[in-house]
Amino acid sequence: MICLVLSGSTIEENISQFKRNREYVDLVELRIDLLHESSRSLASKFPDMVDLPVILTCRRQSDGGKYVGSEKSRGALLESCLDGNFAYVDIEDDVKRSAAELKARERKVRIIRSRHDFTGMPSDIFHRISKIAAKGDIPKMAVTPQSVLDLITLFRVKTELAAVGEKIVLGMGDFGFPSRILYKRVGSMLTYCADTPVAPGQISAQKMKELYRADTVDDRTHIFGVIGNPVLHSFSPEIQNPGFKGINFNAIYVPFHVDSVRSFFILAEMIKISGVSVTVPHKQNVLPYLGKITREVKQIGSCNTVVRAKNLWMGTNTDYYGFVDPLLVEIDNKNIQSALVIGAGGAARSVVWALRNHGCKVTIINRNLDRARNLALETMAAFDSLDNATKYEHVDLIVQTTSVGMVPDSDNDPIPDFKFNKQQTVYELVYRPKYTKMLARARESGCKLLFGIDMLIRQGKLQFESFTGYHYPKRLEQTLHLEED
Ligand code: NAP
Repeated sequence: MICLVLSGSTIEENISQFKRNREYVDLVELRIDLLHESSRSLASKFPDMVDLPVILTCRRQSDGGKYVGSEKSRGALLESCLDGNFAYVDIEDDVKRSAAELKARERKVRIIRSRHDFTGMPSDIFHRISKIAAKGDIPKMAVTPQSVLDLITLFRVKTELAAVGEKIVLGMGDFGFPSRILYKRVGSMLTYCADTPVAPGQISAQKMKELYRADTVDDRTHIFGVIGNPVLHSFSPEIQNPGFKGINFNAIYVPFHVDSVRSFFILAEMIKISGVSVTVPHKQNVLPYLGKITREVKQIGSCNTVVRAKNLWMGTNTDYYGFVDPLLVEIDNKNIQSALVIGAGGAARSVVWALRNHGCKVTIINRNLDRARNLALETMAAFDSLDNATKYEHVDLIVQTTSVGMVPDSDNDPIPDFKFNKQQTVYELVYRPKYTKMLARARESGCKLLFGIDMLIRQGKLQFESFTGYHYPKRLEQTLHLEED
């Protein structure tokens, strides 16, 4: 079930949140601690105003809520609200037998016994869940995994506690995010969503239902994802998930915040992940885990796509092809023969190798000169310092591969004094914003522009082919765009 947390401060606001989200959710949670005091007396009427089951919750501050009164007054408020037709009431695990609990039992309202941990995971999480379930209540554990190993513990709940039918288990924060999406694989009866997040990692109900289709996950769903650190901002779920839906492939694509690639591959075996995209900083870290790699991965020393092949993981690099594809005709026509590559990081490796393999003369300029030198030696390119950019104003192609200009750093330009001319092609790898400061200058000079977002989509489509064996659905291509465009 997908549960919408109503975060409004009045009943009217909550009704409009409900209406906006009705088609995406199966039940709602009314957070009376978030209501203005004047609206709290109306809470008992709320369940009759909506046509879905309602959870009644009054969260105190220590558990991430807004209720500031005494425990006695909180108990009394819950008890009076229970005059309404609530389906569930959330009472924290440490609250002793209360009048609200007695009233809930009398009125056959199911009790959710919750525990929140905003800094870590209780070491006895399995025991706690079993203990609450033994009393006939629904255990709820909202915890904060601090590593992929903690996330593995959450995914073990499903098998270790298979006998506990109804339970709510979710990981908050970056490491916990996959457990919110793959809640069925964690064994949780529901996942929480909100228009305005009231806990770390919550997303909108529309995203949960339409982008991730989290409620359709079953035992046969293939799990794919993107691993990185940070990764939750990644655009890749918005490429892959609609593609899976478009070809009727029972699969889901989830971002995994990864501290240790080694732990991730343990998780991948455990929950049978079928393939992943790999982003910063793991493109090199994954190499030791790959049983088979393509020629480009070997040459570049960097892998951005991993798929499960028979008994081994296979690594490819779609950045390489996603980058070079729109240049091939111009390179063939000899309109592009020389290039200036700004940056010498992971992305620059694919760029420089692709240009060199296609016969372009390349100069790499970078802030850290040693890094530029090393990549230049490997690829038989030239190198220089970033400060000398203006020496190369005559080149046919300028490729910007550093993270300079990316939001929130969008006022910066890595080569502010460089003068473009209209014969040049300028290729920006940063994809947020679409027009970086540097690219906006190149546009003013009349240059031909190539965008980071288009490269991202091209490489994503190639990953889709590796994941599914099918072409990306053509009709979906024009729907791929960033929210800010
Ligand atoms: P990376 O390996 O961390 O390399 C970062 C590069 O940026 C290095 O050359 C670094 O120079 C340079 N840099 C960082 N901050 C700088 C600053 N303040 N001034 C000057 N140079 C600076 O990262 P990456 O994987 O190469 O990714 C770089 C960018 O490319 C990111 O924005 C990423 O989103 C984008 N990218 C886009 C696509 C796509 O499909 N559009 C694909 C891959 C990457 P030093 O060596 O001196 O530190």
